[in-house]
Amino acid sequence: MKTRVAIIGAGPSGCAQMRAFAAIEQKSIPIPEIVCFEKQDNWGGLWNYTWETGVDRFGEPVHGSMYRYLWSNGPKECLEFADYSFEEHFGKQIPSYPPREVLFDYIQGRVEKAGVKKWIKFQCPVKSVVFHNETNKFHLKYRNLKKDNEYIEEFDYVVVASGHYSFPNYPTFPGMNKFNGRILHAHDFRDALEFKDKDILIVGSSYSAEDIGSQCYKYGAKSITSCYRTKPMGFNFPNNWEEKPMLDKVELNIAYFKDGTTKKIDAIILCTGYKHHFPFMAENLQLKTKNRLWPNHLYKGIFWFENPKLIYLGMQDQYYTFNMFDAQAWLARNFILGKFSLPSLQEQQIENNIWIDREEKLETAHDGVLFQGDYVKELISLTDYPKLDIDKVNANFFLWKKHKHENIITFRDQIYCSALTGNFSTYHHTSWLETKDDSLESFLSIEKGKV
Ligand code: FAD
Ligand code: NAP
Ligand code: MG
Repeated sequence: MKTRVAIIGAGPSGCAQMRAFAAIEQKSIPIPEIVCFEKQDNWGGLWNYTWETGVDRFGEPVHGSMYRYLWSNGPKECLEFADYSFEEHFGKQIPSYPPREVLFDYIQGRVEKAGVKKWIKFQCPVKSVVFHNETNKFHLKYRNLKKDNEYIEEFDYVVVASGHYSFPNYPTFPGMNKFNGRILHAHDFRDALEFKDKDILIVGSSYSAEDIGSQCYKYGAKSITSCYRTKPMGFNFPNNWEEKPMLDKVELNIAYFKDGTTKKIDAIILCTGYKHHFPFMAENLQLKTKNRLWPNHLYKGIFWFENPKLIYLGMQDQYYTFNMFDAQAWLARNFILGKFSLPSLQEQQIENNIWIDREEKLETAHDGVLFQGDYVKELISLTDYPKLDIDKVNANFFLWKKHKHENIITFRDQIYCSALTGNFSTYHHTSWLETKDDSLESFLSIEKGKV
């Protein structure tokens, strides 16, 4: 019987896996039978925007964590696929920080071209995955939401590409139950206009905190107060944005902070990150990790130690995204095809420990970028994934960090050079702050030169 591969999730990671197989099928090399299970009704993962929050009409947890006016928080030159440039997709230069809809278009373009949609079962969430030693196969149970039926199928390999920025992590604070206003997690944040003329409190000091704060500033929040647990963001914030130590408690609509100060607030947005959450995997196959650059238990960051026929994609904390998922997917494909073999478990663990030790010594974001860049370099060296100049991509990350620290409100107006084409992007016709129509049509309309 033909080897069968299940891919769980048709987001950028799952699509990377399908694209990896399509790339060799085009060369007339036989490939296994691929079935991708996607719980939503379209591909794109987080980039497939939805207004929905909470549970959907089938009672499934809504996957989406993106919001209405989200723009890329890193330059597109850092996430470009090595085999499909932005220039190829759009047929021209576009600015470096595209809105969500534009990036979704780019992701779709490549998979549409590869013709892999036929492999995807949409609206089919995976409910359980168990490995049977007797048959050496995974039993995968999924639900067809529209038919309202469950099915079990057998697979030789399972690729988990279900993402890890969907299941909210949040602390609770004394007084929350009596707070006179809205409390939500970043996962449920959608339209910044909801907070126009409001005094908002943001808990957290990472990407969601800086970006949701900036969104609310752009769309007219009266004031933004953000608070940190470990380290302040320390950006050059606009006058109505103040950063404080962590929240201690709330009383009615007053927030009390660890430094003894207080602030009247209308809403609390918990930007406190996400949990890796795989309730559908059997207990002995579940990846349990915090959000880190080297999640443990995975050889080369993807192969499950005790059973490498189980592969996790994209589970790292992410500087690198789309091209890293690709590099992982290409290696996973080669393993499944028998073109890449693994050393003994002991050797895997020795190699893994070197990465863990290095990760634990990382001090700055600069070190983190170099670390993940080295990881991607290694992955690329192991397969025929097209060469990508990681040193150039790293340099773009360093420039991105610098631009953010110069001005967190204007960094998206900067341009960068593509490591693929060597060409600079073009300036957007309007600054990020002034752009209220962020539709694909408006973004791609004629550029007017430097803002
Ligand atoms: P996801 O995109 O999360 O896709 C996972 C897919 O699996 C989803 O389609 C989901 O429906 C499906 N799924 C989940 N569970 C099941 C199940 N049981 N059965 C079947 N299907 C299932 N990255 C960037 O490069 N640039 C950015 O600007 C950027 N912005 C971001 C903004 C936010 C708010 C967040 C949360 C993340 C952002 N990211 C960004 C990072 C993001 O993680 C990646 O861009 C990318 O979406 C990850 O792809 P993925 O396929 O691994 O996971
Ligand atoms: P994150 O990077 O994991 O950060 C979590 C934050 O929550 C940290 O500041 C952490 O503080 C804090 N935190 C966690 N538990 C806490 C607790 N119990 N009490 C107080 N604070 C707590 O998560 P994220 O910021 O949501 O980012 C997730 C991903 O989304 C990233 O990949 C990011 O790039 C992406 N994203 C992108 C955009 C965009 O493109 N526009 C926007 C938003 C998010 P410590 O530092 O103390 O741990
Ligand atoms: Mg995916």
